[in-house]
Amino acid sequence: MRCSPACGGISDGRMMTETPLTRIRNADWVVAWDSGAGRHVYRRGVDVEFAGDSITHIGAPRGDSAAREIDGRGLLVMPGLIDIHAHPSTEPMLKGLTDEVGSPKLYMSSLYEYLFLFQSDAAGKRAANEVALSELMASGVTTLCDLSIEHEGWLDTLGESGIRAYAAPMFRSARWFTRNGHAVDYEWNEAAGRAAMESALRLIERARQHPSGRLSGLVCPAQIDTCTPELIADAAAAARERRLPFQIHAAQSVVEFQEIMRRHGKTPIEWLHSLGALGPGAVIGHGIFLDHHSWLHWPSRDDLGRLAATGTSVAHCPTVFARRGITLQDFGAYKRAGVNLGLGTDTFPHNLLEEMRNAAYAARISAGSAHTLRTTDLFDAATIGGAKALGREDIGCLAPGAKADLVLVDVTHPAMRPLYDPIRSLVYAAGERAVRQVFVDGREVVRDGKALAFDYADAAARLEAAQRRAIEKVPQLDWARRSVAELMPRTYEVEAIQ
Ligand SMILES: [Zn+2]
Repeated sequence: MRCSPACGGISDGRMMTETPLTRIRNADWVVAWDSGAGRHVYRRGVDVEFAGDSITHIGAPRGDSAAREIDGRGLLVMPGLIDIHAHPSTEPMLKGLTDEVGSPKLYMSSLYEYLFLFQSDAAGKRAANEVALSELMASGVTTLCDLSIEHEGWLDTLGESGIRAYAAPMFRSARWFTRNGHAVDYEWNEAAGRAAMESALRLIERARQHPSGRLSGLVCPAQIDTCTPELIADAAAAARERRLPFQIHAAQSVVEFQEIMRRHGKTPIEWLHSLGALGPGAVIGHGIFLDHHSWLHWPSRDDLGRLAATGTSVAHCPTVFARRGITLQDFGAYKRAGVNLGLGTDTFPHNLLEEMRNAAYAARISAGSAHTLRTTDLFDAATIGGAKALGREDIGCLAPGAKADLVLVDVTHPAMRPLYDPIRSLVYAAGERAVRQVFVDGREVVRDGKALAFDYADAAARLEAAQRRAIEKVPQLDWARRSVAELMPRTYEVEAIQ
Protein backbone atom coordinates (compact mmCIF):
# COMPACT_ATOMS: atom_id res chain seq x y z
CA MET A 1 0.00 0.00 0.00
CA ARG A 2 1.06 3.54 -0.65
CA CYS A 3 1.09 6.07 2.12
CA SER A 4 0.45 9.20 0.14
CA PRO A 5 -1.53 11.46 2.39
CA ALA A 6 -2.27 14.13 -0.16
CA CYS A 7 -4.63 12.01 -2.22
CA GLY A 8 -7.59 9.72 -1.98
CA GLY A 9 -8.96 7.75 0.89
CA ILE A 10 -11.86 8.39 3.15
CA SER A 11 -11.52 11.52 5.22
CA ASP A 12 -12.88 11.59 8.75
CA GLY A 13 -13.38 15.28 9.19
CA ARG A 14 -12.01 18.75 9.09
CA MET A 15 -8.57 20.09 9.90
CA MET A 16 -7.67 20.96 13.46
CA THR A 17 -7.10 24.59 14.19
CA GLU A 18 -3.45 25.40 13.48
CA THR A 19 -1.05 24.62 16.27
CA PRO A 20 2.58 25.72 16.32
CA LEU A 21 5.43 23.57 15.10
CA THR A 22 6.58 20.75 17.36
CA ARG A 23 9.99 19.20 16.75
CA ILE A 24 11.20 15.87 18.14
CA ARG A 25 14.91 16.54 17.87
CA ASN A 26 17.43 13.84 17.05
CA ALA A 27 15.16 10.84 17.64
CA ASP A 28 17.16 7.69 18.32
CA TRP A 29 14.80 5.52 16.28
CA VAL A 30 11.92 6.42 13.94
CA VAL A 31 9.59 4.01 12.12
CA ALA A 32 9.26 6.15 9.00
CA TRP A 33 7.45 5.48 5.74
CA ASP A 34 9.61 4.89 2.66
CA SER A 35 7.18 5.96 -0.04
CA GLY A 36 9.45 4.70 -2.85
CA ALA A 37 9.60 1.20 -1.43
CA GLY A 38 6.06 1.31 0.01
CA ARG A 39 7.06 0.08 3.46
CA HIS A 40 8.10 1.10 6.95
CA VAL A 41 11.83 1.55 7.58
CA TYR A 42 13.86 2.44 10.64
CA ARG A 43 15.59 5.81 10.50
CA ARG A 44 18.06 6.89 13.17
CA GLY A 45 19.11 10.27 14.50
CA VAL A 46 16.52 12.27 12.58
CA ASP A 47 14.09 15.05 13.49
CA VAL A 48 10.31 14.57 13.32
CA GLU A 49 8.25 17.74 12.99
CA PHE A 50 4.53 18.31 13.04
CA ALA A 51 2.22 21.31 12.97
CA GLY A 52 -1.55 21.42 13.22
CA ASP A 53 -2.79 17.90 12.63
CA SER A 54 -0.05 16.89 10.17
CA ILE A 55 3.54 15.75 9.98
CA THR A 56 5.63 18.34 8.18
CA HIS A 57 9.14 16.87 8.13
CA ILE A 58 11.11 13.72 8.92
CA GLY A 59 14.82 13.95 8.28
CA ALA A 60 17.88 16.05 8.89
CA PRO A 61 17.56 18.96 11.33
CA ARG A 62 16.33 22.24 9.86
CA GLY A 63 17.38 25.68 10.98
CA ASP A 64 14.04 27.29 11.86
CA SER A 65 12.86 27.39 15.43
CA ALA A 66 10.05 25.27 16.81
CA ALA A 67 7.57 26.42 19.43
CA ARG A 68 7.87 23.10 21.23
CA GLU A 69 10.95 20.88 21.27
CA ILE A 70 11.10 17.30 22.52
CA ASP A 71 14.49 15.71 23.06
CA GLY A 72 14.40 12.60 20.88
CA ARG A 73 17.41 10.90 22.43
CA GLY A 74 16.32 7.63 24.03
CA LEU A 75 13.08 7.59 22.06
CA LEU A 76 11.47 5.44 19.39
CA VAL A 77 8.96 7.48 17.37
CA MET A 78 6.41 5.29 15.63
CA PRO A 79 3.04 5.72 13.94
CA GLY A 80 -0.03 5.46 16.18
CA LEU A 81 -1.62 2.02 16.11
CA ILE A 82 -4.99 1.34 14.49
CA ASP A 83 -7.52 -0.86 16.29
CA ILE A 84 -10.21 -1.90 13.83
CA HIS A 85 -12.43 -3.92 16.17
CA ALA A 86 -13.34 -3.23 19.80
CA HIS A 87 -16.36 -3.09 22.12
CA PRO A 88 -15.26 -0.51 24.71
CA SER A 89 -18.72 0.10 26.19
CA THR A 90 -19.31 -3.51 27.28
CA GLU A 91 -16.20 -5.72 27.33
CA PRO A 92 -14.23 -4.07 30.15
CA MET A 93 -16.90 -5.09 32.68
CA LEU A 94 -16.38 -8.80 31.94
CA LYS A 95 -12.89 -8.95 33.43
CA GLY A 96 -12.49 -11.86 35.84
CA LEU A 97 -15.83 -13.33 34.75
CA THR A 98 -15.81 -14.59 31.18
CA ASP A 99 -12.05 -15.14 30.82
CA GLU A 100 -12.32 -18.93 30.95
CA VAL A 101 -15.86 -19.73 29.81
CA GLY A 102 -17.00 -21.35 26.59
CA SER A 103 -20.01 -23.56 25.86
CA PRO A 104 -18.75 -27.14 25.60
CA LYS A 105 -21.75 -28.13 23.48
CA LEU A 106 -21.33 -25.11 21.15
CA TYR A 107 -17.70 -25.68 20.10
CA MET A 108 -16.38 -23.66 23.04
CA SER A 109 -17.85 -20.38 21.80
CA SER A 110 -18.80 -17.99 24.59
CA LEU A 111 -21.15 -15.98 22.39
CA TYR A 112 -24.46 -17.70 22.88
CA GLU A 113 -24.57 -18.58 26.55
CA TYR A 114 -22.41 -15.95 28.27
CA LEU A 115 -22.17 -12.76 26.22
CA PHE A 116 -25.51 -11.24 27.21
CA LEU A 117 -25.56 -12.33 30.86
CA PHE A 118 -24.00 -9.08 32.01
CA GLN A 119 -26.15 -6.05 31.27
CA SER A 120 -24.53 -2.73 31.91
CA ASP A 121 -26.39 0.42 32.96
CA ALA A 122 -25.57 3.90 31.69
CA ALA A 123 -23.03 4.60 34.46
CA GLY A 124 -21.37 1.25 33.78
CA LYS A 125 -21.06 1.97 30.07
CA ARG A 126 -19.56 5.37 30.76
CA ALA A 127 -17.01 3.84 33.15
CA ALA A 128 -16.22 1.02 30.70
CA ASN A 129 -15.63 3.50 27.87
CA GLU A 130 -13.28 5.57 30.01
CA VAL A 131 -11.32 2.49 31.11
CA ALA A 132 -11.02 1.08 27.59
CA LEU A 133 -10.11 4.37 25.95
CA SER A 134 -7.47 5.07 28.62
CA GLU A 135 -5.95 1.62 28.10
CA LEU A 136 -6.05 1.88 24.31
CA MET A 137 -4.26 5.20 24.13
CA ALA A 138 -1.71 4.14 26.76
CA SER A 139 -0.87 1.13 24.56
CA GLY A 140 -0.28 3.39 21.56
CA VAL A 141 -3.66 3.22 19.81
CA THR A 142 -4.55 6.46 18.04
CA THR A 143 -7.41 5.23 15.81
CA LEU A 144 -10.26 3.05 17.07
CA CYS A 145 -13.27 1.34 15.52
CA ASP A 146 -15.83 1.22 18.33
CA LEU A 147 -18.51 -1.41 17.69
CA SER A 148 -21.21 -0.71 20.28
CA ILE A 149 -24.94 -0.56 20.73
CA GLU A 150 -26.00 3.09 20.62
CA HIS A 151 -25.92 4.62 24.08
CA GLU A 152 -26.26 8.06 25.58
CA GLY A 153 -23.15 10.20 25.65
CA TRP A 154 -21.22 7.84 23.37
CA LEU A 155 -19.94 10.43 20.89
CA ASP A 156 -19.20 12.91 23.69
CA THR A 157 -16.98 10.36 25.45
CA LEU A 158 -15.17 9.49 22.22
CA GLY A 159 -14.72 13.20 21.50
CA GLU A 160 -13.42 13.94 25.02
CA SER A 161 -10.91 11.10 24.88
CA GLY A 162 -8.84 12.70 22.12
CA ILE A 163 -8.63 9.45 20.12
CA ARG A 164 -9.49 9.24 16.42
CA ALA A 165 -12.61 7.09 16.34
CA TYR A 166 -15.03 5.39 14.00
CA ALA A 167 -18.33 4.97 15.81
CA ALA A 168 -19.92 1.73 14.61
CA PRO A 169 -23.47 1.51 15.98
CA MET A 170 -24.41 -2.17 15.68
CA PHE A 171 -27.86 -3.09 14.38
CA ARG A 172 -29.53 -6.42 13.64
CA SER A 173 -32.83 -8.11 12.83
CA ALA A 174 -32.69 -10.79 15.52
CA ARG A 175 -31.18 -11.67 18.86
CA TRP A 176 -29.68 -15.05 19.58
CA PHE A 177 -30.22 -17.05 22.76
CA THR A 178 -30.11 -20.60 24.01
CA ARG A 179 -32.73 -22.49 26.01
CA ASN A 180 -30.46 -25.38 26.88
CA GLY A 181 -26.78 -24.67 26.25
CA HIS A 182 -26.63 -26.87 23.13
CA ALA A 183 -28.89 -25.22 20.55
CA VAL A 184 -28.93 -21.58 19.42
CA ASP A 185 -32.29 -19.93 18.71
CA TYR A 186 -33.07 -16.62 17.02
CA GLU A 187 -35.88 -14.21 17.85
CA TRP A 188 -36.57 -12.06 14.79
CA ASN A 189 -37.88 -8.50 14.56
CA GLU A 190 -37.09 -7.24 11.09
CA ALA A 191 -38.76 -3.85 11.55
CA ALA A 192 -36.67 -3.14 14.64
CA GLY A 193 -33.51 -4.04 12.72
CA ARG A 194 -34.44 -1.68 9.92
CA ALA A 195 -35.19 1.15 12.38
CA ALA A 196 -31.90 0.53 14.17
CA MET A 197 -30.02 0.79 10.88
CA GLU A 198 -31.67 4.13 10.09
CA SER A 199 -30.80 5.35 13.57
CA ALA A 200 -27.21 4.12 13.14
CA LEU A 201 -26.82 6.05 9.89
CA ARG A 202 -28.07 9.19 11.65
CA LEU A 203 -25.61 8.69 14.49
CA ILE A 204 -22.77 8.23 11.99
CA GLU A 205 -23.75 11.54 10.39
CA ARG A 206 -23.58 13.22 13.81
CA ALA A 207 -20.14 11.65 14.35
CA ARG A 208 -18.92 13.12 11.07
CA GLN A 209 -20.21 16.54 12.14
CA HIS A 210 -18.59 16.30 15.57
CA PRO A 211 -16.68 19.50 16.41
CA SER A 212 -13.51 17.57 17.29
CA GLY A 213 -13.09 16.63 13.62
CA ARG A 214 -11.70 13.26 14.72
CA LEU A 215 -14.89 11.20 14.63
CA SER A 216 -16.34 9.27 11.77
CA GLY A 217 -18.52 6.22 11.35
CA LEU A 218 -18.55 2.64 10.20
CA VAL A 219 -21.66 0.80 8.98
CA CYS A 220 -22.05 -2.32 11.10
CA PRO A 221 -24.76 -4.95 10.79
CA ALA A 222 -23.88 -6.77 14.00
CA GLN A 223 -23.56 -10.44 13.07
CA ILE A 224 -24.06 -12.44 9.91
CA ASP A 225 -26.56 -14.81 11.57
CA THR A 226 -28.69 -12.09 13.20
CA CYS A 227 -29.34 -9.99 10.08
CA THR A 228 -31.67 -10.60 7.16
CA PRO A 229 -30.02 -10.75 3.72
CA GLU A 230 -31.84 -7.54 2.77
CA LEU A 231 -30.48 -5.70 5.80
CA ILE A 232 -26.90 -6.79 5.06
CA ALA A 233 -27.13 -5.91 1.37
CA ASP A 234 -28.71 -2.51 2.11
CA ALA A 235 -26.12 -1.76 4.80
CA ALA A 236 -23.28 -2.59 2.40
CA ALA A 237 -24.86 -0.32 -0.22
CA ALA A 238 -25.34 2.49 2.31
CA ALA A 239 -21.65 2.23 3.26
CA ARG A 240 -20.56 2.40 -0.37
CA GLU A 241 -22.81 5.39 -1.08
CA ARG A 242 -21.43 7.30 1.88
CA ARG A 243 -17.82 6.16 1.28
CA LEU A 244 -17.76 4.65 4.77
CA PRO A 245 -16.15 1.41 5.86
CA PHE A 246 -18.39 -1.60 6.53
CA GLN A 247 -17.86 -4.34 9.10
CA ILE A 248 -19.79 -7.42 10.19
CA HIS A 249 -19.00 -10.24 12.62
CA ALA A 250 -18.78 -13.39 10.51
CA ALA A 251 -17.09 -16.79 10.57
CA GLN A 252 -16.69 -16.41 14.33
CA SER A 253 -18.01 -19.80 15.50
CA VAL A 254 -18.59 -23.31 14.23
CA VAL A 255 -22.31 -23.08 15.02
CA GLU A 256 -22.59 -19.88 12.99
CA PHE A 257 -20.88 -21.60 10.01
CA GLN A 258 -23.36 -24.47 10.33
CA GLU A 259 -26.34 -22.12 10.75
CA ILE A 260 -25.52 -20.17 7.57
CA MET A 261 -24.93 -23.46 5.72
CA ARG A 262 -28.31 -24.74 7.01
CA ARG A 263 -30.15 -21.58 5.94
CA HIS A 264 -28.47 -20.84 2.63
CA GLY A 265 -26.30 -23.79 1.57
CA LYS A 266 -23.28 -21.50 1.53
CA THR A 267 -20.32 -20.82 3.80
CA PRO A 268 -20.59 -17.49 5.67
CA ILE A 269 -17.99 -15.88 3.39
CA GLU A 270 -19.63 -17.34 0.26
CA TRP A 271 -23.02 -16.05 1.39
CA LEU A 272 -21.71 -12.53 2.08
CA HIS A 273 -20.12 -12.60 -1.36
CA SER A 274 -23.47 -13.51 -2.94
CA LEU A 275 -25.07 -10.52 -1.15
CA GLY A 276 -22.49 -8.12 -2.60
CA ALA A 277 -21.15 -7.40 0.89
CA LEU A 278 -17.48 -8.18 0.20
CA GLY A 279 -15.10 -5.65 -1.30
CA PRO A 280 -12.30 -3.20 -0.54
CA GLY A 281 -14.43 -1.26 1.96
CA ALA A 282 -15.55 -4.39 3.83
CA VAL A 283 -14.08 -5.85 6.99
CA ILE A 284 -14.94 -9.28 8.38
CA GLY A 285 -14.90 -9.26 12.17
CA HIS A 286 -12.86 -12.34 13.09
CA GLY A 287 -13.11 -14.40 9.87
CA ILE A 288 -11.85 -17.53 11.64
CA PHE A 289 -14.15 -20.30 10.45
CA LEU A 290 -13.43 -20.17 6.76
CA ASP A 291 -13.87 -23.42 4.83
CA HIS A 292 -10.23 -24.44 5.38
CA HIS A 293 -10.44 -24.35 9.20
CA SER A 294 -9.58 -27.76 10.63
CA TRP A 295 -12.50 -27.77 13.12
CA LEU A 296 -14.97 -27.73 10.20
CA HIS A 297 -13.42 -30.50 8.16
CA TRP A 298 -15.13 -28.90 5.17
CA PRO A 299 -14.17 -30.17 1.72
CA SER A 300 -13.87 -26.86 -0.19
CA ARG A 301 -10.93 -24.41 -0.04
CA ASP A 302 -12.45 -21.27 -1.53
CA ASP A 303 -13.08 -18.72 1.26
CA LEU A 304 -9.56 -17.29 1.60
CA GLY A 305 -9.46 -16.77 -2.17
CA ARG A 306 -12.86 -15.02 -2.03
CA LEU A 307 -11.59 -12.55 0.57
CA ALA A 308 -8.37 -11.91 -1.35
CA ALA A 309 -10.01 -11.56 -4.77
CA THR A 310 -12.58 -9.06 -3.48
CA GLY A 311 -10.05 -7.02 -1.45
CA THR A 312 -11.95 -7.72 1.78
CA SER A 313 -10.08 -7.21 5.06
CA VAL A 314 -10.15 -9.30 8.23
CA ALA A 315 -10.18 -7.84 11.76
CA HIS A 316 -8.05 -10.28 13.71
CA CYS A 317 -8.55 -10.31 17.51
CA PRO A 318 -6.58 -13.31 18.76
CA THR A 319 -6.88 -12.94 22.55
CA VAL A 320 -10.61 -13.39 23.07
CA PHE A 321 -10.58 -16.62 21.04
CA ALA A 322 -7.28 -18.00 22.33
CA ARG A 323 -8.75 -17.87 25.84
CA ARG A 324 -11.14 -20.64 24.83
CA GLY A 325 -8.71 -22.56 22.64
CA ILE A 326 -9.88 -21.13 19.31
CA THR A 327 -7.63 -19.54 16.69
CA LEU A 328 -7.56 -18.32 13.12
CA GLN A 329 -5.56 -20.73 10.93
CA ASP A 330 -3.36 -18.83 10.48
CA PHE A 331 -2.27 -15.21 10.14
CA GLY A 332 0.58 -16.17 7.80
CA ALA A 333 -1.66 -18.26 5.54
CA TYR A 334 -4.11 -15.34 5.17
CA LYS A 335 -1.28 -13.00 4.29
CA ARG A 336 0.22 -15.41 1.77
CA ALA A 337 -3.24 -15.74 0.18
CA GLY A 338 -3.29 -11.95 -0.27
CA VAL A 339 -5.86 -11.08 2.42
CA ASN A 340 -5.43 -7.71 4.14
CA LEU A 341 -5.32 -8.11 7.94
CA GLY A 342 -5.88 -5.51 10.63
CA LEU A 343 -5.87 -6.07 14.38
CA GLY A 344 -8.44 -5.45 17.09
CA THR A 345 -8.95 -5.71 20.83
CA ASP A 346 -12.25 -7.53 21.10
CA THR A 347 -11.85 -7.91 24.85
CA PHE A 348 -10.00 -6.68 27.94
CA PRO A 349 -7.32 -5.58 28.40
CA HIS A 350 -7.64 -3.00 25.65
CA ASN A 351 -4.02 -3.32 24.69
CA LEU A 352 -3.11 -3.67 21.03
CA LEU A 353 0.52 -4.46 21.84
CA GLU A 354 -0.66 -7.58 23.70
CA GLU A 355 -2.89 -8.49 20.76
CA MET A 356 0.16 -8.26 18.48
CA ARG A 357 2.11 -10.59 20.75
CA ASN A 358 -0.77 -13.05 21.01
CA ALA A 359 -1.32 -12.92 17.24
CA ALA A 360 2.29 -13.99 16.73
CA TYR A 361 2.11 -16.88 19.17
CA ALA A 362 -1.31 -18.12 18.01
CA ALA A 363 -0.19 -18.08 14.37
CA ARG A 364 3.06 -19.92 15.05
CA ILE A 365 1.40 -22.58 17.19
CA SER A 366 -1.45 -23.19 14.75
CA ALA A 367 0.89 -23.22 11.73
CA GLY A 368 3.46 -25.36 13.53
CA SER A 369 6.11 -22.98 12.25
CA ALA A 370 7.93 -19.96 13.64
CA HIS A 371 8.25 -18.68 10.09
CA THR A 372 4.57 -18.31 9.22
CA LEU A 373 4.77 -14.61 10.06
CA ARG A 374 7.34 -12.03 11.05
CA THR A 375 7.04 -9.13 13.46
CA THR A 376 7.07 -6.98 10.32
CA ASP A 377 3.70 -8.52 9.38
CA LEU A 378 2.27 -7.80 12.84
CA PHE A 379 3.37 -4.18 12.90
CA ASP A 380 2.13 -3.70 9.34
CA ALA A 381 -1.27 -5.13 10.33
CA ALA A 382 -1.48 -2.80 13.35
CA THR A 383 -0.68 0.23 11.18
CA ILE A 384 -1.04 0.20 7.39
CA GLY A 385 -3.22 -2.95 7.39
CA GLY A 386 -5.77 -1.18 9.61
CA ALA A 387 -5.48 1.98 7.52
CA LYS A 388 -6.16 0.03 4.33
CA ALA A 389 -9.20 -1.62 5.92
CA LEU A 390 -10.55 1.87 6.62
CA GLY A 391 -9.68 3.12 3.13
CA ARG A 392 -7.11 5.62 4.40
CA GLU A 393 -3.61 6.52 3.37
CA ASP A 394 -2.98 9.33 5.86
CA ILE A 395 -2.77 7.27 9.06
CA GLY A 396 -0.66 4.27 10.11
CA CYS A 397 2.52 5.77 8.65
CA LEU A 398 4.92 8.59 9.41
CA ALA A 399 5.51 10.73 6.34
CA PRO A 400 5.15 14.43 5.56
CA GLY A 401 1.46 15.17 5.03
CA ALA A 402 0.26 12.22 7.12
CA LYS A 403 -1.75 12.81 10.27
CA ALA A 404 0.36 13.65 13.31
CA ASP A 405 -0.66 10.45 15.14
CA LEU A 406 2.56 9.50 16.90
CA VAL A 407 3.72 7.24 19.70
CA LEU A 408 6.90 8.00 21.62
CA VAL A 409 8.44 4.94 23.25
CA ASP A 410 11.15 5.13 25.90
CA VAL A 411 13.84 2.80 24.56
CA THR A 412 15.90 3.30 27.73
CA HIS A 413 13.17 1.63 29.84
CA PRO A 414 14.70 -1.48 31.42
CA ALA A 415 11.96 -3.63 29.88
CA MET A 416 13.13 -2.50 26.42
CA ARG A 417 16.75 -3.50 27.09
CA PRO A 418 18.96 -5.04 25.78
CA LEU A 419 17.94 -2.95 22.79
CA TYR A 420 18.77 -4.45 19.42
CA ASP A 421 15.36 -4.11 17.73
CA PRO A 422 12.94 -1.62 19.33
CA ILE A 423 9.73 -3.04 17.80
CA ARG A 424 10.56 -6.57 18.94
CA SER A 425 11.48 -5.30 22.43
CA LEU A 426 8.16 -3.45 22.54
CA VAL A 427 5.94 -6.26 21.28
CA TYR A 428 7.52 -9.29 22.97
CA ALA A 429 8.72 -7.73 26.22
CA ALA A 430 7.97 -4.19 27.33
CA GLY A 431 4.44 -3.69 26.04
CA GLU A 432 2.68 -0.52 27.15
CA ARG A 433 5.13 0.02 30.04
CA ALA A 434 7.54 1.74 27.64
CA VAL A 435 4.94 3.93 25.91
CA ARG A 436 5.66 7.41 27.19
CA GLN A 437 3.75 9.94 25.10
CA VAL A 438 1.07 9.76 22.40
CA PHE A 439 -0.24 12.39 20.00
CA VAL A 440 -3.43 12.33 17.91
CA ASP A 441 -3.84 15.06 15.29
CA GLY A 442 -0.79 16.67 16.90
CA ARG A 443 -2.56 16.87 20.28
CA GLU A 444 -0.98 15.18 23.27
CA VAL A 445 -3.33 12.47 24.62
CA VAL A 446 -0.88 10.42 26.73
CA ARG A 447 1.85 11.86 28.96
CA ASP A 448 4.21 9.79 31.12
CA GLY A 449 2.32 6.66 30.08
CA LYS A 450 -1.08 7.93 31.25
CA ALA A 451 -4.05 8.95 29.14
CA LEU A 452 -4.90 12.56 29.96
CA ALA A 453 -8.63 12.69 29.26
CA PHE A 454 -9.93 10.51 32.08
CA ASP A 455 -9.12 9.46 35.63
CA TYR A 456 -8.33 5.78 34.91
CA ALA A 457 -8.33 4.69 38.57
CA ASP A 458 -11.63 6.40 39.30
CA ALA A 459 -13.21 4.94 36.14
CA ALA A 460 -11.99 1.47 37.13
CA ALA A 461 -13.59 1.84 40.58
CA ARG A 462 -16.90 2.90 38.99
CA LEU A 463 -16.64 -0.04 36.60
CA GLU A 464 -16.20 -2.44 39.52
CA ALA A 465 -19.37 -1.10 41.12
CA ALA A 466 -21.21 -1.56 37.81
CA GLN A 467 -19.92 -5.13 37.60
CA ARG A 468 -21.33 -5.86 41.08
CA ARG A 469 -24.72 -4.53 40.00
CA ALA A 470 -24.66 -6.66 36.84
CA ILE A 471 -23.61 -9.83 38.67
CA GLU A 472 -26.75 -9.73 40.82
CA LYS A 473 -28.99 -9.89 37.74
CA VAL A 474 -27.26 -12.85 36.10
CA PRO A 475 -29.60 -15.61 37.41
CA GLN A 476 -32.57 -13.81 35.77
CA LEU A 477 -30.79 -13.86 32.41
CA ASP A 478 -29.27 -17.34 32.43
CA TRP A 479 -31.36 -20.11 30.81
CA ALA A 480 -30.71 -22.40 33.80
CA ARG A 481 -31.02 -19.61 36.41
CA ARG A 482 -27.44 -20.13 37.56
CA SER A 483 -25.51 -17.64 39.68
CA VAL A 484 -22.11 -16.23 38.73
CA ALA A 485 -20.54 -18.46 41.40
CA GLU A 486 -21.93 -21.52 39.57
CA LEU A 487 -21.21 -20.28 36.04
CA MET A 488 -17.73 -18.96 36.60
CA PRO A 489 -16.32 -20.00 39.97
CA ARG A 490 -13.30 -18.07 41.23
CA THR A 491 -9.76 -19.40 40.73
CA TYR A 492 -9.80 -20.54 44.36
CA GLU A 493 -12.68 -20.84 46.75
CA VAL A 494 -12.92 -18.08 49.29
CA GLU A 495 -12.37 -19.99 52.50
CA ALA A 496 -14.61 -19.18 55.46
CA ILE A 497 -12.79 -17.75 58.45
CA GLN A 498 -12.69 -20.43 61.20
ZN1 LIG B 1 -16.49 -8.31 18.26
